[in-house]
Amino acid sequence: MILINVSNISKTYHTPTKEVIALDDLNFTINEGEILGIVGTSGCGKSTLLNILTNLEKSDRGSITSSKSIVIGYMMQNDALLPWLNVYDNAILGLKLKKITTKDNLAYVDNLLKKYGLYEFKNEYPNSLSGGMRQRVALIRTLAIRPNILLLDEPFSKLDIDSRITISDDVYKIIKELGITTVLISHDIAESISLSDRIIVLTKRPGKIKNIYEVNINEETIPSKRRNSEYFLELYQTIWGDIDHVS
Ligand code: ADP
Ligand code: MG
Repeated sequence: MILINVSNISKTYHTPTKEVIALDDLNFTINEGEILGIVGTSGCGKSTLLNILTNLEKSDRGSITSSKSIVIGYMMQNDALLPWLNVYDNAILGLKLKKITTKDNLAYVDNLLKKYGLYEFKNEYPNSLSGGMRQRVALIRTLAIRPNILLLDEPFSKLDIDSRITISDDVYKIIKELGITTVLISHDIAESISLSDRIIVLTKRPGKIKNIYEVNINEETIPSKRRNSEYFLELYQTIWGDIDHVS
């Protein structure tokens, strides 16, 4: 079932010196329960697209419609934890900002912290955590408001490759367990294939849709295992060929 319909979205930035066409006539759907990967080179408009989906920015043309009321959880690129708040206060920050620190919601955060191995660290500060743990806290902060769609902008880009694979597995399990519809932005093709059910490949700027792929890898397996499938390599090569590499 279609959750969100994106029609004819275009966006141009006007600066004092020039015009930058960031997105050019995007049309696609976001289906309920899927992880939709979006890949494309740096500067092709990926973050702009998420900002438009969340209404932080306005598109020049087009429309975004949804089949039911949606609560968006948005983990922005460089959306770091606040170093002066401990794990718990970081995790409930979204609830505080929305003024919905109800007993129920706080209990939900406790549950998430317990479930994802962070409860005993709730009084620690971000600096004393590993990169992977910080990422999980940031995700819990986003999940605390109980979104029915999750937008993740390059969530793993600051982690080294080993933590990236481990945390991908963790995040994948969390998302699939909650069954939450997710849009995952990445410029890492392998990462995107390992996590996504479907992938939209954007051209270099101005971002247009180059291709859309179904990722036919067994849903039950986790990203690190999905990387071993034959289909993974095949799709990697196809998408690699699609991307306008900057040389
Ligand atoms: P990506 O996330 O794919 O790297 P962005 O969506 O951040 O790309 O940016 C797309 C293009 O729009 C880039 O060329 C960027 O420099 C430009 N851009 C983004 N935000 C602004 C802004 N607020 N003002 C002017 N140009 C912008
Ligand atoms: Mg970006």
